Amino acid sequence: MIVRHVEPLLKVDGLVLLAMTADAVQNAPMTTTILGACPHDCPDTCSLVTTVQNGVAIKVQGNPKHPLTDGVLCTKVSRYTERTYHPDRVLHPMKRVGPKGSGQFARVSWDEALRDIAARLTPIAEKTPERILPYSYAGTMGMVQGESIAMRFFNLLGAAQLDRTICASAGGEALAHTFGGKLGMKVQHFADSKLILIWGSNAITSSVHFWRIAQEAKRQGAKLVCIDPRRSETADKCDQHLALKPGTDAALALALMHELITHDRLDHDYIQRHTVGFEALRARALQWPPERAAQVCGLQADDIRQLAHDYAHIQPAAIRLNYGIQRAKGGGNAVRAVLCLPALTGAWRHRAGGVVLSASGHALHNGVALQRPDLLTNARSPLINMSTIGDALNTPGLIEAVVVYNSNPVAVAPESAKVVKGFAREDLFTVVLEHFMTDTADHADYVLPATTQLEHWDIHNSYGHTDVLLNRPAIQPLGEAKTNTQIFRELSQHMGLHHPLLQEDDESLCRLALQHPRNLQSEDPVTWERLLQDGFAHWPVADAPFAQGGFPTASGKCELVSSSLVALGQDGVPDHIPNHEAPHPQDRYPLAMISPPARNFLNSSFVNVKSLRDMEGEPLLEIHPEDAAARQLTDGEMVRVFNDRGSYECKAQISTRAQPGMVVGLGIWWRKLGANGTNVNELTSQHLTDMGRAPVFYDCAVQVAAKR
Ligand code: SF4
Repeated sequence: MIVRHVEPLLKVDGLVLLAMTADAVQNAPMTTTILGACPHDCPDTCSLVTTVQNGVAIKVQGNPKHPLTDGVLCTKVSRYTERTYHPDRVLHPMKRVGPKGSGQFARVSWDEALRDIAARLTPIAEKTPERILPYSYAGTMGMVQGESIAMRFFNLLGAAQLDRTICASAGGEALAHTFGGKLGMKVQHFADSKLILIWGSNAITSSVHFWRIAQEAKRQGAKLVCIDPRRSETADKCDQHLALKPGTDAALALALMHELITHDRLDHDYIQRHTVGFEALRARALQWPPERAAQVCGLQADDIRQLAHDYAHIQPAAIRLNYGIQRAKGGGNAVRAVLCLPALTGAWRHRAGGVVLSASGHALHNGVALQRPDLLTNARSPLINMSTIGDALNTPGLIEAVVVYNSNPVAVAPESAKVVKGFAREDLFTVVLEHFMTDTADHADYVLPATTQLEHWDIHNSYGHTDVLLNRPAIQPLGEAKTNTQIFRELSQHMGLHHPLLQEDDESLCRLALQHPRNLQSEDPVTWERLLQDGFAHWPVADAPFAQGGFPTASGKCELVSSSLVALGQDGVPDHIPNHEAPHPQDRYPLAMISPPARNFLNSSFVNVKSLRDMEGEPLLEIHPEDAAARQLTDGEMVRVFNDRGSYECKAQISTRAQPGMVVGLGIWWRKLGANGTNVNELTSQHLTDMGRAPVFYDCAVQVAAKR
């Protein structure tokens, strides 16, 4: 919906307008409001209303008509105009003129940039296209500016395939092995839950709209329990906080099952009708009495018993999982263990019972039509794991060129020293599509100015709710910025790729996204017209999706024993898998480090927005008073955090937010804005999870010392 209205003079009503001169009327500011969607990697996927005056976006607000946004945005995106009109926006194509990583660039024309990029990529594409790597993720989450024309382009080229694992693939595979997809409760129904376990999530920071729903439930008498190694802002506001050790969530879930089983607090009918593998799970859970789990998790056995009692007796009981739980070696198993809980108690029978980690599998968009995987015919195209990009870039002969869009791997990928070394290779040709000169852009041969969300069309699904949103451009692209899609259209022309599928326009791509057979056949399909009018629509999702079973697994049931994992030669029953790096006090690196995002950043986005960075202050390491005292640290002093992979300098914040033996390195600062030109990923490893080939950001042993 575009609402056009004239504000003749600020705060002037129609009667005064009649008294205005013709000139004044002509010069009066034209104000429009445009509906959009937040593109950031956040489960809330808010509906945005951008107010534009004379072609300039003057404010971005939450859409009050979208029930889940409810007129409210987080602090970060409320400042979206500050980000859009930031003085450091890249507004012209830039060519490197200094050493890689130096950030020395000169402005060039689009024609020169695209001609030269085509001249560099074409010879590689003719001989070994599989050595061209696209690297992208969720810096901008839209389906069109993400993987539509870009994916078609790389598929036609025969480029390497990117294994998109950096954030959610361990949990995603766990969901697929258990429920048959990224499926779960509808988030709005948490308002009616009576017990909510907020597990591995600092919702106040990372899902503020879920937190509002949880608060509503609390007002109606619900008990909120936070399960998180860190005493987060969310933990402060819950009725109870269980501060388990990082990477021990599966042990806790198995002990809860132990209690449900030994006290017969099971829904036998639901188990019998809608699950497979109960006996094997039962045998595994009986190995985990609360005392054993308490020792592994660093909890009190009585607290585990009480939680199991509450979970069985306070109904409806719901679990909001987030991806923190799966950032350790056993992350996939941990997610699977938690996913089993609502099937055991039959919590799914109520719409306010069950669990959600991601609900994106409920969406009925046509990703295949957008991405056209059938265009890839190069049988030699390797699958390159984005989480081990450091190793990949340093493997001789594997990658000759990288095209980065919607991502900042130099800041966000683990084991930065190797990532930086790889991107610094003189023989690597790197193109980065960006808004700002990020750590990755500094290593590019060409930086191409990309549009922000206010400047382009897109379609957005959510992983936290089950609505679909349309993003309309609110303003013209700034400077010479182009949409990602347009950049790939023009690059393909320069490279002699004249396939018509590379020239489809953005509005057509948005419409195409809705062309999913199940959407078209649904009784109430999501239509383009409805999205144009309202900005959002609901995918057809049952209120209690698994009340009658119907899990889309091979068995049609909730797979407590996963047949797909067994087929892969893995243990089909969830278990606790200890961390790669589970430190002991006598170890050389005795502290377990986790690195959740700082409150005012979203991964590495927003770090360069001054007002948000001012709120964060500077890079911090939370350390428990006992661990600080053992190292004679004082609050606020600079420390060195280190392990065999590298060293990171930041300020110590002595706080009980960290538990003894654990430190919290709040992320993800841009390296060049950090104290010694590094960030927390200098310390993280390229080890992977048990499922999904994902990184283990929260499974990292370090030592801390004063920097004096
Ligand atoms: S980051 Fe999340 S909470 Fe903030 S506006 Fe975007 S979707 Fe909403």
